[in-house]
Amino acid sequence: MRVEMVEGNEAERYDPGVVNMDKRCSCGHQMELKLSTVVFKKNAEIENVPVLICDTCNHSEIFPPVKPCLVSLLGRLKALLPEKIHLRFDERNEIARIIQLQQKQEAGVEGVRRLIEERINELLDMLLLARSLEDQEWVDDIQQKLVQLTDKTLAAVIISFSRNRINR
Ligand SMILES: [Zn+2]
Repeated sequence: MRVEMVEGNEAERYDPGVVNMDKRCSCGHQMELKLSTVVFKKNAEIENVPVLICDTCNHSEIFPPVKPCLVSLLGRLKALLPEKIHLRFDERNEIARIIQLQQKQEAGVEGVRRLIEERINELLDMLLLARSLEDQEWVDDIQQKLVQLTDKTLAAVIISFSRNRINR
């Protein structure tokens, strides 16, 4: 499954305060959360991007909580094109990372909460280390990752779009 990403004002259409929990496609069917490869300007391939897909009409859109991160990544990649680029989004985005783990473990909402909690603790340990080393770039990077995970509704949103809903 590949999704072609066209340049536009995707970022402006995203409102971080509003994540629709019962997202339906314009054709009326339920959208499903999947990890997909996004292709940008033919040469950039980004693997494991969370995408909402309608199985009925094939409409797809980027999972709203990861959109700001993806848009800023594409902005930075633009400078490197037309060189071939291949990278993994789950290595750069914490939400994509959690979704990948959730799908692998078929985790339910409690499982996702636990995954998020464990990752936050791990990042907080890294933050202490980065601070003690006075590595400001690393500190900034970790803080940005923590921000991605601190949305309280995130676990519920991930589950509401996932087919593998096993309560654990
Ligand atoms: Zn549809």
